[in-house]
Amino acid sequence: MAQLQAILKYQETDAKLYKLERELAGCEERKEYMKYKKFLETAPEKLDSLEVKAATLKAEAAELTKKYEQMEETLQYFDNVDELLTSGADISFYQKKAQSKVEQLRKFKADLTALIASIKETDSEYKKLKKQVIAAQNQYKEAAEKYKAVKASKDGEMKEIEKELSLIVKEVPERMLEVYQMKRKERVFPVVGEIVGTRCPFCSMEPPLAARNKLTGGGTIECDNCHRIIFSKE
Ligand SMILES: [Zn+2]
Repeated sequence: MAQLQAILKYQETDAKLYKLERELAGCEERKEYMKYKKFLETAPEKLDSLEVKAATLKAEAAELTKKYEQMEETLQYFDNVDELLTSGADISFYQKKAQSKVEQLRKFKADLTALIASIKETDSEYKKLKKQVIAAQNQYKEAAEKYKAVKASKDGEMKEIEKELSLIVKEVPERMLEVYQMKRKERVFPVVGEIVGTRCPFCSMEPPLAARNKLTGGGTIECDNCHRIIFSKE
């Protein structure tokens, strides 16, 4: 029972620390700070992928230029079509050829227009993101300062509680403390509570009789539902 008293006393004091920690974790200053932090952490990857996209588009443009040069070369072929025709060549053959060249040029123009649009879009996306990164770096610094100030404002109180806890902790059995800290880390809090009738004091689920029987004589059980530690004074 003395061990239980110790952990309960520890938990009672720890509750104040837990509350302060949760306040810090949920404060606007931290949210703001985390927002910029996350953005700055993911921005380099986004910039990289835009650079890769730009390189791909550049390669596509080179490919298109090559195609255009080839087309130009075949178009030269039509320069002396007059001569060919006067020497009795089949006019419909050249008409078809010219028609297909016109179609190729149309497609080329459409491809080029789409490519230019893509390049422009990627470029402006990159520049926009760069600007955002620069702005976020300053905002991050500001947010970090503000969050630091909030933390500092609670620091004295937290240190005081920690000091108190360091004195009480000596009475708590090591194994019990280990379980307690583990659950606390998972934000299961409060961790330990006295059974209410036959039910868990936290979630009201009724542990099976076999488990409850272990409670007599100072034993503890873990609630199957909310995983908190239950004890009984009887
Ligand atoms: Zn429970």
